[in-house]
Amino acid sequence: RRPAGPAFVPHWRRVRRAPKEVAPAAPKVFLKGQKVILETPITVKDLSSKLGIKASNIITKLLMEHNIGATMNQSLDEETVALLALDFGIEAEFKKAKRPEEELKVELAVPSRTADLVSRPPIVTFMGHVDHGKTSLLDAIRKTNVAGGEVGGITQHIGAYRVETNGRSVVFLDTPGHEAFTAMRARGSQATDVAVLVVAADDGVMPQTEEALNHAKAAGVPVVVAINKIDKPEANPMRVKQQLAKLGLVPEEWGGKTGFVETSATTKKGLEELLERLLLEAEILELKANPKGTARGVVLEARLHEGRGVVATVIIQDGTLHLGDPLLCGQASGRVRAMYNDRGQAVTEAGPSYPVSVSDLSTIPEAGEKFYVLKDMQRAKGIALDRQKQLREAGLKERSHVSLENLYTKIEAGKVKELKLILKADVKGSLEVLENMLEELSTGEVKVRILHSGIGSITESDVILADASDAIIIGFYVALEEGVSGLAEGRGVEIRHYQVIYDITRDVKAAMEGLLEPEKKEVVTGQVEIKQVFKI
Ligand code: GDP
Repeated sequence: RRPAGPAFVPHWRRVRRAPKEVAPAAPKVFLKGQKVILETPITVKDLSSKLGIKASNIITKLLMEHNIGATMNQSLDEETVALLALDFGIEAEFKKAKRPEEELKVELAVPSRTADLVSRPPIVTFMGHVDHGKTSLLDAIRKTNVAGGEVGGITQHIGAYRVETNGRSVVFLDTPGHEAFTAMRARGSQATDVAVLVVAADDGVMPQTEEALNHAKAAGVPVVVAINKIDKPEANPMRVKQQLAKLGLVPEEWGGKTGFVETSATTKKGLEELLERLLLEAEILELKANPKGTARGVVLEARLHEGRGVVATVIIQDGTLHLGDPLLCGQASGRVRAMYNDRGQAVTEAGPSYPVSVSDLSTIPEAGEKFYVLKDMQRAKGIALDRQKQLREAGLKERSHVSLENLYTKIEAGKVKELKLILKADVKGSLEVLENMLEELSTGEVKVRILHSGIGSITESDVILADASDAIIIGFYVALEEGVSGLAEGRGVEIRHYQVIYDITRDVKAAMEGLLEPEKKEVVTGQVEIKQVFKI
């Protein structure tokens, strides 16, 4: 018996014909006079079966008339399909295919019942100038509040650790510094609830202290100040308070809102007090989560572990994570096969604010990626694959951060209410003048907000802040640090260079009013050398 399917032709009887000339395929009769409803994006294959037109005809048409080289499984967007429909004389109506991602959004938007909400521990990041004692403070707190009470006293570095004080917990992120903090924000996540700004009492406020503070402010994260190295004879906490008060961090005892704690990583002075203060901030913030809900949170770091596969250390922001849960994490998916806490103990579940390392995922997610637990593995896998595909396709498109050129359109569309700027200049004098002049350009519709201003070259940290906060960088008489130009291009961040202050205010004003002339770019297409000049 012959197998079912197309008529069997033995190979010796198969004739190789020259490809037939493609006749403009008429739509199948059943389509005449009736509208086809198409969901886009659609693959050539699916389109072919929907329209009743051979895929090869579609491919030829695309190539010959629209100069698009397509394959069977290529997905076509609405514009292309509309052209094709026109070619084939078909009346088409379009419907956007609902992407699994959108369904996910709906699913995740369901709020927890207030009755289920309980307080969760605050998640804290240390920031500040280099050598002011961030790492030492992290270590000192870990040693006093974790290791002491544990058998063996070994803690695992999993990107975060939890300490206990008087029966309540505080969680510290292990990578101190505002760069890591903002890099995470640039990926759309914020794990930190409270930032501790570490300032050495002998050194006082330094450029990176200010930078760190501006990063925390841009993220809207409350700041507690640790005046560290208080054990040093040269320590001058009063000066630190005065310097920070000028930057808007006014100590409570002076009528302000900011908590200041004097600490020493060396003598351990003030550590308990710092923890108490952080718990107080958490109370003010009313940090709540629903331990009964499905887990969601942020990836702190991830790597390939020999024997365990892809291991991600995550911090749970809401819900409880269980062994066996299906995870979706950026473009990665996987079941939680093993889970360890920050003390290296295997655990079967982890609640809000807990850091754990989980394995095994399909690919390595990036730090700052959000993760969710979904109902079943199939969906997690489906969405992860969809995201991979989406990313490949979007790779061709540019990211659309705000720029002076697109500012007006974004304002009109109601997408921008604040023009965020990062200013870098060669001297302090110009910075002050610039800040004032630019802020005065604010109108009722758009407020000009200076996220950060500093002296010196434009750095990677500036670009990451701009990326995370959708800001434009303006440089006045400054250069770019190495690698910054490429990073900015990759992230779609605009950097503008100026040599005249008036030009900056003129351009920003024009951009806000939609009157900015398109930027003229010189493109060198060739060079000539003049060898001789003749007089004619
Ligand atoms: P980071 O760059 O902010 O992480 O700073 P580190 O934690 O690496 O500290 C820089 C230096 O300051 C190290 O040599 C520490 O031993 C020292 N240090 C940190 N905290 C204290 C402190 O409270 N008192 C004293 N005297 N030295 C400290």
